[in-house]
Amino acid sequence: MLSLTLAFLIAAAPLHHASATSADEPRVPIVAPGPAPVDPAAPPSDAIVLFDGTSLEGWTHLDGQPARWIPDGHAGGAMTCKPGSGSIVTRQVFGDAQIHVEFATPSVVDGEGQGRGNSGVYIQNRYEVQVLDSFENNTYPMGQCGAIYLQHAPLVNACRRPGEWQTYDIVFRAPIFDESGNVTAPGRITVLHNGILIQDHVPITAPTGGGDRGTGDGPIHLQDHGNTVKFRNIWVRPL
Ligand code: MG
Repeated sequence: MLSLTLAFLIAAAPLHHASATSADEPRVPIVAPGPAPVDPAAPPSDAIVLFDGTSLEGWTHLDGQPARWIPDGHAGGAMTCKPGSGSIVTRQVFGDAQIHVEFATPSVVDGEGQGRGNSGVYIQNRYEVQVLDSFENNTYPMGQCGAIYLQHAPLVNACRRPGEWQTYDIVFRAPIFDESGNVTAPGRITVLHNGILIQDHVPITAPTGGGDRGTGDGPIHLQDHGNTVKFRNIWVRPL
């Protein structure tokens, strides 16, 4: 049996190699990066821009009502969470995706622990990448900035100071479900925080706290946790 397997592998290897170097092999799509010198925050040519500072027309509240967070109203501007108005979600839904989000926690520090600069990026309205002012602010690791909330602490604390702009670059692979809605392959999340790897392809087995229990594509949700956290330059590349 072993020799048969080996014979098969030896026979198959040259064929595979020939295909891989073939002129007929489909070429990968071309995507133009942002302007040089390369700014990794600039949306590439195939990105869906979800917020560019001008308006919240791509967003609603969780209940479908118009979003009441406060946009700066100009290109390159931010939006600010209006505490008590509720979390907001994109009108568009996504499966596997590369997601870029920039955020700033309030420059005037108020509160402590989970009460300081708390928000969150819920992928598919289910899996929260925590947003928190974790600069010299003690809290439980699976709830600090960059945690997959109560599932994975970040590898390091890469937070900038309160009020400074920070970046999340997220690669999300959705869970795979069977017909009964059971997970057959866990979702995976990779996160770079300010360019630093903080979540390395970690498995997610269930929605994080407050996440919905659905199984299909879902929106990106920004959390109202009662703090005036700002967001800007949000874009997605479906994968
Ligand atoms: Mg949060």
